[in-house]
Amino acid sequence: MDDPAATPKLPPARDRVVPINDRLAPLYPEFEGLNYEGPLQLLIAVILSAQCTDARVNKITPALFARFRTARDFAECDIKELQQLIKQSGFYKSKAKNIRACCVELVNRFGGEVPANLDDLVTLPGVGRKTANVILGHAFDTPGVTVDTHVGRLARRLGLTRHRDPVKVELALAEIVPQSEWLHFSGRLIMHGRKVCLARKPRCEKCPIADLCPKIGVKGLAAKRKRKGHTSSGRKVVKSKTADGEATERASA
Ligand code: SF4
Repeated sequence: MDDPAATPKLPPARDRVVPINDRLAPLYPEFEGLNYEGPLQLLIAVILSAQCTDARVNKITPALFARFRTARDFAECDIKELQQLIKQSGFYKSKAKNIRACCVELVNRFGGEVPANLDDLVTLPGVGRKTANVILGHAFDTPGVTVDTHVGRLARRLGLTRHRDPVKVELALAEIVPQSEWLHFSGRLIMHGRKVCLARKPRCEKCPIADLCPKIGVKGLAAKRKRKGHTSSGRKVVKSKTADGEATERASA
């Protein structure tokens, strides 16, 4: 197993990943999970969940799925009615457009069914790699952990993998994270990466999982930034000379 964090002080990654996930879960409740029945409803729910909490999507979808039951129903729907039904999810005009266009493609190219492979899924309007992985993982039981820049960075800092290649990171996480938590774990790492474990200046002193984290690569960040001409707070260092010709440094405004 890929376990770079097996330090004398910390347990191996496989033993830390569940407590890490458990601690992050209540902090990022928007990754509660979507309610759905079958791949089509999941696809629609995931499109609706962009920039919206799962809880809010779960309030919208019962009426939506009662009104539109098949891909053809969505493909032939009145766009204004669809917009009205999903209005509370935000960005409802573009989401309605994507949902209808996506279902037109499902009807025309896939017999009204959601395809069960990544290559076909990412050709659908409104479906990126992340959405496709969510659908594959949940609706088709196909391994897939969503790995974006935040997930990769945190997985390395937390010592869950050494890899930089997103596919290798995905496989390493899939090996140690319980399958039922794949989607949520990725989502929680993304939120933690945005709010606490920032790329340039991680807030380790405020981090609720600090005691479970070997902070791999973090110690060198300040020195690296200094070498690149930034202060520890992220401001650029401006070099100049005094009237006497003495070299000085100051932080930019
Ligand atoms: S302790 Fe620091 S490096 Fe580790 S997850 Fe928290 S913020 Fe990131």
